Amino acid sequence: MVKIRNTLIAANWKMYKTVGEAANFVKDFLPQVVGGAEVDIVICPPFTCLPYLSAGLKDSSVQLGAQDVFWEKQGAYTGEISTVMLQDLGCRYIIVGHSERRHIIGESDLIINRKLKAISGAGMVPILCVGETLPEREQNQAREVVRLQLEQGLRDVAAPELVVAYEPVWAIGTGINANPADAQEMTGFIREYLAILYDKTWAEGVRILYGGSVKPDNIAQFAAQPDVDGALVGGASLDAHDFAQIVRFNSNV
Ligand code: PEP
Repeated sequence: MVKIRNTLIAANWKMYKTVGEAANFVKDFLPQVVGGAEVDIVICPPFTCLPYLSAGLKDSSVQLGAQDVFWEKQGAYTGEISTVMLQDLGCRYIIVGHSERRHIIGESDLIINRKLKAISGAGMVPILCVGETLPEREQNQAREVVRLQLEQGLRDVAAPELVVAYEPVWAIGTGINANPADAQEMTGFIREYLAILYDKTWAEGVRILYGGSVKPDNIAQFAAQPDVDGALVGGASLDAHDFAQIVRFNSNV
């Protein structure tokens, strides 16, 4: 199947890897993907690894992303990082609304909305994470939960380029991936709803990823779904060999 949207595989390293460990990863990973990966690759490391990766990836096609951002450009906001600082390090993508931030840190849709405005205002690309919890799925509320996350998160956001990651919370870091058909059902719904919020032509160009226990042996099944344009990968992106296998899922070499 030929897809109209370029496949994107993004690594979310979460709060793992020191600078030394990131250096080892780059040393192992880059030779495995040079000339072989047919997909767009983004690595979102912890903030502390960004300067090293910015230099270490500059001669490769691997792009850099951040796991979070604050909505102001600068000021008295202790502990926060701005779009200006991330751009300065060569970041193009920023993950927003990851379920660990929603559920552990307590990030609300209002905060996520502020961050999305800041990211698109800076000309960067948000990777907006949405997804339902297990009780919500069991009560048949998955679509409504995701619809509200999109409606509230994207309110008044002009997003020339947007990536959405459908990440059912029960599949993240659990080893229990969603059924690829369910992932298609939800990503198809997300695209339909984006067409209502914005317009159909624009929504056709939005890349929608699946995230939740993606591994080398299941990536192809997800990527084969018509509305799944790649994956956001947590645990399996920490290992250079596994992540290389994931990004090369389509390659015969
Ligand atoms: C994630 O952190 O976004 C994620 C999908 O994690 P994992 O691949 O470990 O489930």
